[in-house]
Amino acid sequence: MTQRNTWQRERVREALAESRGFVSAQTLHATLREENTGIGLATVYRALAGLASQGDADSLQSPDGESLYRACATPGHHHHLICRSCGLTVEIEATAVEQWARSTAATHGFIDAEHVVDIFGLCGSCAKARESA
Ligand SMILES: [Zn+2]
Ligand SMILES: [Zn+2]
Ligand SMILES: [Zn+2]
Repeated sequence: MTQRNTWQRERVREALAESRGFVSAQTLHATLREENTGIGLATVYRALAGLASQGDADSLQSPDGESLYRACATPGHHHHLICRSCGLTVEIEATAVEQWARSTAATHGFIDAEHVVDIFGLCGSCAKARESA
């Protein structure tokens, strides 16, 4: 496997770390284009998918079905509470969900079950801003 795109991947990783909240590949690509890195959208997609599969980034589907990514400080399995207005993200544990997922899978004879549970909403300050608007 060739390593010639390593710097591009590192640059994508940095841009992701500098982003606030979850971002799409398009958003990240636009940021990188402003910096004249010459990194193409397809490379950004590949780099993000690679980071996500190695556990260096969180990925999730937005309510619109778009893949979003975030450099994540929390290792291991966890969930997110995401403000759909400002992108504020809170890392959460969901013990009840873990138990429910395990027992539901077991009831149906499934093993090796995985799940993705993220909560989208309006954060406190965005909710306040909307009230006063
Ligand atoms: Zn996370
Ligand atoms: Zn917000
Ligand atoms: Zn979970």
